[in-house]
Amino acid sequence: MDFEFSDEEKALADMVRKFTEKELAPFYSKWDREEKFPRHINKKIGELGLIGITVAPEKGGMGGSHVAEGVITEEASRGDCSLAMSIFVVGHLCAVLLEQGNERIRTEFLEPFLGGDTLPAFCMTEPEAGTDAVAMRTRAIKNGSSYILNGEKSGITVMMDADIALVFAKTDPGAGARGVSCFVVPTDLPGITRQSYADMGCKGITRGSIFMEDVEIPEDYLIGQEGMGFAMGMQAFDVSRILLSLEAIAPAMVSLEETKEYTMQRNAFGRPLATFEGVSFPIVEHISILEAVRLLCYKGLWMRDQGMSTTKIAGMVKWMAPRFSTNAIRDCLVLHGHYGYTQEFPLEQRLRDVIAIEIADGTSQVSKLVVQRELFGRDFLPYNYRNR
Ligand SMILES: Cc1cc2nc3c(=O)[nH]c(=O)nc-3n(C[C@H](O)[C@H](O)[C@H](O)COP(=O)(O)OP(=O)(O)OC[C@H]3O[C@@H](n4cnc5c(N)ncnc54)[C@H](O)[C@@H]3O)c2cc1C
Repeated sequence: MDFEFSDEEKALADMVRKFTEKELAPFYSKWDREEKFPRHINKKIGELGLIGITVAPEKGGMGGSHVAEGVITEEASRGDCSLAMSIFVVGHLCAVLLEQGNERIRTEFLEPFLGGDTLPAFCMTEPEAGTDAVAMRTRAIKNGSSYILNGEKSGITVMMDADIALVFAKTDPGAGARGVSCFVVPTDLPGITRQSYADMGCKGITRGSIFMEDVEIPEDYLIGQEGMGFAMGMQAFDVSRILLSLEAIAPAMVSLEETKEYTMQRNAFGRPLATFEGVSFPIVEHISILEAVRLLCYKGLWMRDQGMSTTKIAGMVKWMAPRFSTNAIRDCLVLHGHYGYTQEFPLEQRLRDVIAIEIADGTSQVSKLVVQRELFGRDFLPYNYRNR
């Protein structure tokens, strides 16, 4: 066993931390207030080669490890976890899919995305199909050398800014998950409209819905084979859920570091707050738990680099990380007294942002269902169980 990051990973962490301190953290509350996605930052991150780093070199990527992907996501999330979700977590999902596309998809869509010139959205959820994603209604019907798409995708990160949408649609409605395919849909095509949301947090990532009415795309824009879409999406979730978990842990850890300092400086009853166990013990408890979950995240990413399945570990961390991070940030806010409740400190924003992670990429409940399936087997899933 070796719990050290390699020298390369340490250098990467150092580079991303410096970038985060200069380019992300100072603007965290500004982008939230303006509710704007900073395209210029996406471009800078692309130029640094940090987007979709696991894409194979022969397909235009860096061939980096998943552990390195975790290091980048965690470091960026220390400064802006909301931006990290759109660039590195959605970025991971879209990179995995686009990498499996044909040459035309890789040239037209993967290359500009890796360079930070374009922004993709991952469109699985629908108004009537979230947790039960296979119940999706969006249809793609083959018409000569084209597909015609009709339907609505909702709750989508960066939808208002996205240049392309990776849309999951039914090509064979009777075939369940095996009837779902994935398509690249440029968002400027005729028949597409979008609508933004007024979210409580993650306001800079312009979440919204996309409506498709008789949208025609070339058959080449199908990713992989018909019917493979759902399996490809689920495979990508096995890593993105771990990245999202690191994304939740990072702002909680920063909040705990800040709160430790604050309580060492601020006095009450003639002594520093930190000398009261009622103040220091919650900090100790949160750091202990989050450090354990963080290690589990990196174990999962390491396992994926070794070609092992991470479905169970991804489900485990995905329910724990946002829940425990939310608890930690909430306590940090209270330990700052009334100052913590103001927008002068980033704590209230981090709290709003981290709650989103409990829902995105599948809720805590569905994450536990995944772990249950891995532990007890498919027959014991609530929706599979039949009285015998
Ligand atoms: C910030 C944010 C970003 C997002 N980004 C994207 C994106 O980029 N792309 C995308 O496709 N989607 C995205 N989503 C949508 C997200 O994936 C869905 O919201 C999520 O999967 C839950 O679906 P739902 O909202 O329809 O809730 P529902 O499925 O209606 O569930 C409602 C509640 O019931 C619970 N529940 C449902 N079924 C069960 C069950 N069997 N057992 C126990 N509890 C259950 C759920 O856990 C939840 O608490 C995003 C959401 C958020 C908040």
